[in-house]
Amino acid sequence: SNNVAKMEKIESTGSTKYQGRDDRATSEQVLDPRTRLILFKLLSTGFLSKIDGCLSTGKEANVYYALSGSNSTGDVAPLTENEDGEVTIKEYAIKVYKTSILVFKDRDKYVTGEHRWRNGYCKSNPRKMVKVWAEKELRNYKRLWERGVKCPRPVMLKNHVLVMEFLGSSGWPSPRIKDAKLNPKRMREAYVQCMLILRHMFQRANLVHGDFSEYNALWHNNQVYVIDVSQSVESDHPSALDFLRKDISNVNDFFRKYGKLDVMSTRQLFEFVT
Ligand code: ATP
Ligand code: MN
Repeated sequence: SNNVAKMEKIESTGSTKYQGRDDRATSEQVLDPRTRLILFKLLSTGFLSKIDGCLSTGKEANVYYALSGSNSTGDVAPLTENEDGEVTIKEYAIKVYKTSILVFKDRDKYVTGEHRWRNGYCKSNPRKMVKVWAEKELRNYKRLWERGVKCPRPVMLKNHVLVMEFLGSSGWPSPRIKDAKLNPKRMREAYVQCMLILRHMFQRANLVHGDFSEYNALWHNNQVYVIDVSQSVESDHPSALDFLRKDISNVNDFFRKYGKLDVMSTRQLFEFVT
């Protein structure tokens, strides 16, 4: 059927017509049957109209590019109408978590000590574990979105498959801060915005990112957006303040070395954020 063809397309070579998405990555990575089934259902129910290429292949997750379908109602209304009442197709990013046990073993420090996961965290079953991570990321994104911290809007979750707003335009993903080639003025703005993100995450959302750096911040519409919040912890987590210090120094190091900025001391910034 049409949907089978669509599924095969994301697993075959040369499927991506946009630059900035990795053709090779798509072709080398074959989806596991569970993931295939979930994506297939999202296509056949009309939640998605198209899955078209791979945005990123990492050790923990792959991220795909997709377009909304005619029946694309998630947890939040993802479809927008213009003045003429026409529904516009939305671009999504779909994060598919990997079930490899090796990766998830060393993430334990983020979950142990989290009161939100006292029960229901199953260390022996990688498939359950990965579901917990996906759920955690959805919840964290939701909270950030609700509290006005710039991040992709979460749309829906099915097992280990998270659908969210695509940060980019017309198929072009917004770059990570690391790759954004900002001029000195923008660099300074990005630095301030990164610190504000950490502060707002902490003060408004009670969250510490836990893996914040130039890799997990996108430069979108001339602003910094935070991504990759699956490991973010509540601010009362026993290691939260250590994670926060690390986040601050990651950002500081990047803007000092690559941004050539005069940065504040991590101690001062810690005071500012908390
Ligand atoms: P990895 O194992 O590669 O580190 P990860 O768990 O860190 O995977 P993310 O950081 O959430 O996954 O996403 C990986 C990449 O996918 C990002 O660096 C970014 O380039 C792209 N990406 C993720 N979410 C979005 C989004 N909503 N819009 C556009 N691009 C995105
Ligand atoms: Mn990342």
